Amino acid sequence: MADRRLTGTGIGAHSFETEEGIDFAARVNVAYDCPQGHASVLPFAVEAEVPNIWPCHCGNLGVLRTLDGFKPPDPKRKRTHWDMVLERRTVEDLEELLQERLTLLRERRLRAGVLV
Ligand SMILES: [Zn+2]
Repeated sequence: MADRRLTGTGIGAHSFETEEGIDFAARVNVAYDCPQGHASVLPFAVEAEVPNIWPCHCGNLGVLRTLDGFKPPDPKRKRTHWDMVLERRTVEDLEELLQERLTLLRERRLRAGVLV
C-alpha cells in the first residue's frame, strides 16, 4: 500500500517568515455591548465596514459602541474611486505622477512633430 502521508508541513509547523517589512492594515478596536453586560472588543481594519451588531458568546446580540473617538463608517456612503486613490497615494504623489505623465506626453508630441 502506498504511503500517503504528507511530509514537510504539519499543524503548528513553525514558520521562518518574519513580519519584517510587512505593512499591516491600520486597525481600530470596536466594542459591542450585549444586554447581559458583556463587552466584546474586536479589531477591524480602518477601511472595513463595521457591522452594527455582533453575536456575543452568551447568545445575545451585542450592539456597536464606539471607542477612542472612532466613528463607524456611514453605511449609506459608498467609497468612491477617488477615496480609494487617496488611501494609496497622497495628493503630492499624485501631483508628481501627473507632471511625469504630462512631460512624457509632451515629449511624445514633440517627437511626432506636433506643436505643444
Ligand atoms: Zn453577552
